[in-house]
Amino acid sequence: MSGIYIHIPFCKQACHYCDFHFSTSMGKKDAMVNAICKELELRKSEFEDETVATIYFGGGTPSVLQTNEIELILNSVRTNYTIIDNPEITLEANPDDLSEEKIVQLAASSINRLSIGIQSFFEEDLKLMNRAHNAAEAEKSLQLARQHFDNISIDLIYGMPNMSLVRWKENIDKALGYGIPHISSYALTVEPKTALAKFVEKGLVSPASDEEAQEHFKLLNETLLDAGFDCYEISNFGKPGYYSKNNSAYWQQKKYIGIGPSAHSFDGVRRGWNINNNSKYIKSIEKDILPMEVEVLSATDKYNEYIMTGLRTIWGVSLNRIATEFGPKFKEYALLQADKFIEEHLLYLDDETLKTTKKGMFLADGIAADLFMVNLR
Ligand code: SF4
Repeated sequence: MSGIYIHIPFCKQACHYCDFHFSTSMGKKDAMVNAICKELELRKSEFEDETVATIYFGGGTPSVLQTNEIELILNSVRTNYTIIDNPEITLEANPDDLSEEKIVQLAASSINRLSIGIQSFFEEDLKLMNRAHNAAEAEKSLQLARQHFDNISIDLIYGMPNMSLVRWKENIDKALGYGIPHISSYALTVEPKTALAKFVEKGLVSPASDEEAQEHFKLLNETLLDAGFDCYEISNFGKPGYYSKNNSAYWQQKKYIGIGPSAHSFDGVRRGWNINNNSKYIKSIEKDILPMEVEVLSATDKYNEYIMTGLRTIWGVSLNRIATEFGPKFKEYALLQADKFIEEHLLYLDDETLKTTKKGMFLADGIAADLFMVNLR
């Protein structure tokens, strides 16, 4: 089973912390929709022997598209690919786009999962992040979404400047109050060249320390586990039956095609990435040229990716799979490097599978870095 990711590179305004690819000018929206439909057609041979199980509209802000534009893209998927009977079709949406009319239209379309970028229920946090929505719109969008969708995820950001544990808990409790079955939650990171990085440089804002972010994560983890969620990946919490199929497939190294500017693709051997420029992307697709660079992954690259993604999930890293796919040397190396983390109770071995403990989960990226192979090619 495979997935299709579709990047919609438009946003109403630039959030201060964001380094994704997007444009705030909607002038090329029609041409972009056409180019995306065409790229889907141009690349159909890549999935000749594959069946698509998940379709994911990410961005950018996919909810800036009209429902008929989303359907145009989905029609191109249907025409050019084999799809399972009931695929998971997710649309990332921002609260300010989710009027009642829009939600009703989306519910009547093939979209069956909404991922709503709430980030915070507090006005001052939303202003600090320069989000396009306000606190009232955040709440209203969830009330409406609950009436028309069952499978809803929301994004929440922790580790924000001046965010107390009390206010963070209020954010989590608000989300729980809406009966949302899935929450993705990320620590605010200061990415280079963002507005946030400039504010930090000028001393206008001080980001939360690692310790504070870890406290936020601990509170999130405990509260959501108590509420019946599983932390199935460091940033993703789902009630049973509501794990994101799209993301789970990605973490399990399944194949996916990434469509649209800046989108990444993976075919099991090669990783590709499209140009991150809207005009150049459209022009290239119009000439039937895929604006994509490709790298062939070495065994070391694939091992490192498996370690990186596996340790962040509840599925962990299978030592037998490492031995079979990459060779016994890789297994020996992983075990040797894991030893000190096992002693520190950050990792444990469960039936030949290395998994992070509750405490180790938050530190998964650092632990993974120590298990990376650097010199075998
Ligand atoms: S809406 Fe999303 S993609 Fe757009 S600027 Fe904000 S965080 Fe970035």
